[in-house]
Amino acid sequence: MELKKCDTLLKGMVITMDPERNVFTNGYLAITDGRIISVGSARNCEYRGAEELGGEGHIVLPGLVNVHAHLVQGCMRGMADGTTFEERFFGFYYPMTGACDEERSHTSATPPILDLVRRGVTTTVDDHFTHVHKNSIDGVLAAIRDVGIRCRMARLTINDADAVPEPFRENLDTGIAETERIKSKWENELISVTASSIGITYCEPEQLKELWQWTVSNDRQFDIHAPAVFDQKYLAKRRGWEGGSFEWLNEMGILSPNVIAAHAQNLKPGEADLIRDSGASIALVPDMEQVLGLVSFDARNFLERGVTCGLGLDGPVVAYGHDLWTAMRSFLTGQRLGDEYRRRSGDKQSEWTGEEILYGSAEQALELATIGGAKALMMDDHIGSLEPGKDADVLVIDRRGETQLSPPAALLSNLVYGNGPSPQSIRRVLVKGKTIVVNGEHVSVDRFEAIRKLDELQETLLEEVNARRFVRIRSRFNWISDSEA
Ligand SMILES: [Zn+2]
Repeated sequence: MELKKCDTLLKGMVITMDPERNVFTNGYLAITDGRIISVGSARNCEYRGAEELGGEGHIVLPGLVNVHAHLVQGCMRGMADGTTFEERFFGFYYPMTGACDEERSHTSATPPILDLVRRGVTTTVDDHFTHVHKNSIDGVLAAIRDVGIRCRMARLTINDADAVPEPFRENLDTGIAETERIKSKWENELISVTASSIGITYCEPEQLKELWQWTVSNDRQFDIHAPAVFDQKYLAKRRGWEGGSFEWLNEMGILSPNVIAAHAQNLKPGEADLIRDSGASIALVPDMEQVLGLVSFDARNFLERGVTCGLGLDGPVVAYGHDLWTAMRSFLTGQRLGDEYRRRSGDKQSEWTGEEILYGSAEQALELATIGGAKALMMDDHIGSLEPGKDADVLVIDRRGETQLSPPAALLSNLVYGNGPSPQSIRRVLVKGKTIVVNGEHVSVDRFEAIRKLDELQETLLEEVNARRFVRIRSRFNWISDSEA
């Protein structure tokens, strides 16, 4: 048989995430001009590639999709631990990111973006709301371009006097004009830009409506935190609204198919139905919810109703590790803790019968992190699964040296519950057919240099905005510096 040519031919266990959820245990994936042209069982492969990769022990997956992030928060990674809400929000979240101009934002965002791609994420969103330096967002977008990850950037306009420190407040005209500016400067086949606000109490209702209207006119998503931290505090007091955040969005005419809401926990009765009926999507953030101790996490509430959900990480200040594999595991553990909590707090006493099959599975978690995320971002026409015609956003894992993935009978369970493959087993990451990661290393961005620059930036920022007082603020350890010696 005369073999047809393609640019790249990948071989291994091909997990397609197509509508039938076909898995070719010995399969192939053919790529040409950045697109998938054919997928199937190896015995039916009619292609030879200019480059061929994989085979025995390799797993070929759609690139992972992260549906919630604040990449500029790299400079304060993990600093939330052991602090109060007031300390972290006003003590260092706003001050440290507010002090980031274009160059600093690039430095701050680069390691978190490398976290993503080195573990197989090919698409991320970003929600940027610190515009003290208007070009801070340009720095993040430059880092996104340099790494080559696909990104949907939401530029959030915020101005509420109680929720937002003065230098961060922008009037609506400026917010929309700046959104237009970065849209025309940065949009290309991998980057798209939209407008929004952090949450429904971060600007006046008419302004929120106008931002949403902009996204409708420009055929884009409206990305919002709901409920956001200030909703409970302000909805009743200032908006005269006793209902839930989603009920309010619905009342305002905003809750609609182009809305994606992050978190969406602790809803009022009936709100999940409201979300389903509206066609809006949910960005589940299970790892952060678990770190913050939310025992009532409930994704099943949405998934059993057919609400479109993806998995997100949130900002590195609280998304420790910034790893979507951890989010997959946390979706399962969070759901099961939540189910147990609801059982124990309900009428029925929890009683183990031995007949239970716990809700959720590794397969379901992987769906959320791939095709689910693509649907939640309204990108499933071109990413999220390995199907002919779609862009070649692909992750190739080589499990031959991964002791934690051996033996293979429960391969997917071991991948998901075991927090995924190690970076060095990430043989290849492709975005639209272009290789950006080889054997766990980015092809052009030097991670050692990126870390050195970010370490230096953090030192500068801690001094500059007087945030060092929050470092190890409640430490039990005695930290001995040798600087006075
Ligand atoms: Zn967030």
